[in-house]
Amino acid sequence: MQAFFFDMDGVLFDSMPSHAKAWVEVMHRHRLPCTERDIFINEGRTGRDVIDHCYRQTYHTDAPDGLWQQIYKEKSEAFEQKGAPKAVDGVAEVLNYIRQQPDTQIWIVTGSGQDSLFARLESYFPGVFAPERMITAHDVQLGKPRPEPYLKAWQRSGLDKSQCCVIENAPLGIISAKAAGLRCLAVNTGILTNDDLATANPDEIFDDMHQLLDYLRSQTATL
Ligand code: MG
Repeated sequence: MQAFFFDMDGVLFDSMPSHAKAWVEVMHRHRLPCTERDIFINEGRTGRDVIDHCYRQTYHTDAPDGLWQQIYKEKSEAFEQKGAPKAVDGVAEVLNYIRQQPDTQIWIVTGSGQDSLFARLESYFPGVFAPERMITAHDVQLGKPRPEPYLKAWQRSGLDKSQCCVIENAPLGIISAKAAGLRCLAVNTGILTNDDLATANPDEIFDDMHQLLDYLRSQTATL
């Protein structure tokens, strides 16, 4: 038995450019500092954590109730207006390959609560994901980079940690996976450098999903 825990944004959906543009747009509307690189570096945090992170830079305290909900609502709307993201190039082939392996679980472990993306999973990746094998922003108290999301997936999988493997694209997601004591394969699908990803100490770093697939094919016996 083995389980693969897939992050969603930047791993399944090429949604990070739209997320970054939407966040920058809405934060600036509220006169809060925010760059696209901030969003890529902070990818994996829950929406509330991202808002608090930017708010604290100016006000040195968390965003008040009412405001953060308003910003998150506006950001979700701005993201929707960017149109449907594509699947990350090559990830469908990776998922198909993993599904062909016997006794394999495929999970999603994401800080996102973006219902529009959850709704697209079945049409983009038919038959791959099941609702009971998803950990989302709605399931955790302390999101990435803390270990809770991946620990929850591991506990629910019923497997040993040595049988679990995380696929991540973001530094904070990698930190979360490693803090949970799990093997983590990083795929660079965004604007950060491989050195940015390396600071989080993943077990491997790949330039794209095609390299990851080659690696999985070569490692199947040991994963
Ligand atoms: Mg991601």
